[in-house]
Amino acid sequence: MFGSMQALDVQTLVLVSSLILGALGVLFLINWRDDRSRVELADWGVGFLLVVPGVVLIGRRGEISDLWSIWAANAFVLTAYGMILSGAMRFVDRRPAPGVALAGAAVWSLLCLWPTFFERFDLRVIAVSAICFVQIGLVAHLLWERRRIEPLPSLGRSAVGAAIVAGLQGARGLFMAIAPSELSGSEALRQSHLPWMSLALLVISLFAAHMMLSMSAERAEQRHRRRADSDDLTGLLSRRAFVERATARLAAAPDRGALMFFDIDRFKSINDTHGHAVGDAVLVAFARLVETRLAPDDLFARWGGEEFVLFAVDHDFVAGRRLAEEIRRDFAELDFGLGAALGATVSVGLAAPALIGSDLDRLVASADAGVYAAKRAGRDRVEAVTPDERRAARA
Ligand code: GH3
Ligand code: MG
Ligand code: MG
Repeated sequence: MFGSMQALDVQTLVLVSSLILGALGVLFLINWRDDRSRVELADWGVGFLLVVPGVVLIGRRGEISDLWSIWAANAFVLTAYGMILSGAMRFVDRRPAPGVALAGAAVWSLLCLWPTFFERFDLRVIAVSAICFVQIGLVAHLLWERRRIEPLPSLGRSAVGAAIVAGLQGARGLFMAIAPSELSGSEALRQSHLPWMSLALLVISLFAAHMMLSMSAERAEQRHRRRADSDDLTGLLSRRAFVERATARLAAAPDRGALMFFDIDRFKSINDTHGHAVGDAVLVAFARLVETRLAPDDLFARWGGEEFVLFAVDHDFVAGRRLAEEIRRDFAELDFGLGAALGATVSVGLAAPALIGSDLDRLVASADAGVYAAKRAGRDRVEAVTPDERRAARA
């Protein structure tokens, strides 16, 4: 099979490659239309589409003028790689300068103005390979660097893939520089290589397209999940995310930490007196105040409405009570720019796994009972209810 290269018909392969690459381009653009926030997909889609005229024109070499089959064909391919680079820059939040996509084709066009260059196959291959090497090498670099700040599973894989493609281009250029006669020798030999080159391009394109779509989809999914994990108003963890993470912490260290439940006092009357916007500002102010006291591993969430929950991992019951007391005092002293009129305070309930056990539902119920006790005792205070007291209260 591999012996008879004539069996691979150039025109058929050009047709198949064009259709597949074109379809990939359209696929990228459809994905982009569905989610415009994935800006990289538009550049990548245009990139794939631009390879098509490049492939078609290269396939017509000898039949059409050299200007089209050499200059224009390679200009299309280099612009396509330029668009891939431009999309990669968008993907890593670097706004590409307008010239990025066209730079490779511009260098190529300038070189083509030099007649000796334009006539020599080896020089042309070296130039195109070198330009591709730089373009795809930059893509590999950008993706590899991004790994440090964004943990997408396919980033590293894609960076390595891009590095391999850049390496192949570099090797092709080097080989041509070292042994030009081998490849530039006969037109027939060159023609017989064309089908294999276009097959390789096709396989590489399919891998590349898969990786590019994966990266982009992984990011969209991560952003979606992060949005579901956080509260819109305060930016704190959502209740769902808190439960998930606190449960995992308690499973790993069953008797560590202190859980606090906060309920802002007479919040309804703050809303009624000063308006909903001021109520919102109070919630945000409370969130920011507590955040200044958090250790990196603490879990702090908006439970709902004007209720918040904090799992302070490095505090036992006594230290937890001290922290809760400090938060209560600081909040009562907080100046909301409305003078003393606001007088917002908070009631806090406290529960510790070392005393209550590691079941999250029971801990929350116990801390909530503490809040209830604090409200009954006059608000603006920290209370903890022991299981015995809870049982007695219920009886
Ligand atoms: P208590 O001291 O007993 O806790 O009284 P309270 O008024 O704080 O408690 P209540 O549960 O009666 O009222 C809570 C109020 O919080 C009712 C609701 O309108 C308000 N609220 C809930 N979510 C938000 C919000 O996102 N923004 C604002 N501004 N108000 C909210
Ligand atoms: Mg409440
Ligand atoms: Mg309240």
